[in-house]
Amino acid sequence: MDILIVGAGIGGLTAAAALLQRGHRVRVFEQAPQLAEVGAGIQMSANAVKVLDSLGLRAAYEASAVRPKAFEFRRFDSGELLHRMPLGEQHEQRHGAPYFQIHRGDLHDALLQAVRALDPQAIALNARATVLEEDEEGATLHFDTLAPVRAELVVGADGIKSTVRRYILGDDRPVFTGQVAWRCTVATTRIAPALRTDIVSTIWCGPHNHAVMYYLRGGELLNFVGCVERPAEEESWTARRPWAELDEDYRGWHPMVRAVIEHVERDQCFRWALNNREPSLRWSSARATMLGDAVHATLPYMAQGAAMAIEDAAVLARALELPGTLADRLRRYEAHRAPRTARVVRESTEMGELYHIGDAETMRRAFHDRDIARSRNEWLYPYDPLQVAIA
Ligand SMILES: Cc1cc2nc3c(=O)[nH]c(=O)nc-3n(C[C@H](O)[C@H](O)[C@H](O)COP(=O)(O)OP(=O)(O)OC[C@H]3O[C@@H](n4cnc5c(N)ncnc54)[C@H](O)[C@@H]3O)c2cc1C
Repeated sequence: MDILIVGAGIGGLTAAAALLQRGHRVRVFEQAPQLAEVGAGIQMSANAVKVLDSLGLRAAYEASAVRPKAFEFRRFDSGELLHRMPLGEQHEQRHGAPYFQIHRGDLHDALLQAVRALDPQAIALNARATVLEEDEEGATLHFDTLAPVRAELVVGADGIKSTVRRYILGDDRPVFTGQVAWRCTVATTRIAPALRTDIVSTIWCGPHNHAVMYYLRGGELLNFVGCVERPAEEESWTARRPWAELDEDYRGWHPMVRAVIEHVERDQCFRWALNNREPSLRWSSARATMLGDAVHATLPYMAQGAAMAIEDAAVLARALELPGTLADRLRRYEAHRAPRTARVVRESTEMGELYHIGDAETMRRAFHDRDIARSRNEWLYPYDPLQVAIA
């Protein structure tokens, strides 16, 4: 097929590579003049890593990824261990692919190389899609800088403010969740050895606030994401905020958290609003569909937003090979993907409620009852986008 993809984020590039690999003609249009993933770290679990492996990315990610031994959920001030979910070898043996953490730029770059190896001309930059039209024979994308382009199918991988979504579902704007995320990294050598954690992903949980910390680039960098309940603010991935506000948000927290706050570059503290939407069961029109944040933006509290975009891409590539009309195949894709991604959106919101419980004893009981490790090992990580039946 002749396919246009709007957006060259992690979802759009994964879709491009998967579709090119299956012999489709693919063109990707990205509004940015340069390709660069903002933000710092990202976590990838087996359900997504299987897709990355199928695209030949293993050597690329292994060069810089860190494999954490576990998720450790700890109380924000005392550091009490509330719950531990083994990762490392256990995750790989159980689910057939590793769990790793990587700099977003490194993952994005690896995907970009994979797409360009399959078709060096596939990606057009500085190309913002503005309008989508479709008729019985095909779909036409209009741009602000390019002449219109026509194809059999358009895939909206254009993120939370998706233009393709507006065409398919109307103008339903994302909703501010009442939570914002701080993002910083610090060189691990700046943290006193006695305060460094093991190679684990630690989630420090406290009243109306939690912080996630994990290592990147062979352990050289420590990634910090602080998620705080706050009144509305601008949605931006690049807004720097005063260090004093970060300091204020984490006053009284565990010495390990304090060590990170004390050592971050004071002019490199970014904070952005976290938005999401009610999950939709409808993702497609007759000749256009969506994947990733365009259709199921979520709070990042299960570390699954990009993983879901990667799963979508793999399942879409497989669904297009099913029998039936294009509209039938798109229906099967969305019918298969919508319940799983809706569950991630819903459970991520619930995780926010769990991580932000004020009273220590209530939090202890809630973590015990929830048993995150059992739940995620049962339904989330075993899913294989390359093999699952697309019912
Ligand atoms: C704090 C935080 C931590 C996270 N941690 C994790 C994690 O550990 N693991 C995980 O799996 N996920 C994580 N996520 C989620 C993850 O970052 C997103 O779900 C993922 O990046 C979405 O990818 P995407 O390709 O769908 O969209 P995006 O990355 O938003 O890409 C969309 C692309 O489309 C382009 N675009 C937009 N409109 C147009 C247009 N009209 N024309 C052309 N181009 C356009 C944009 O410029 C952009 O390049 C986290 C998110 C946050 C906020």
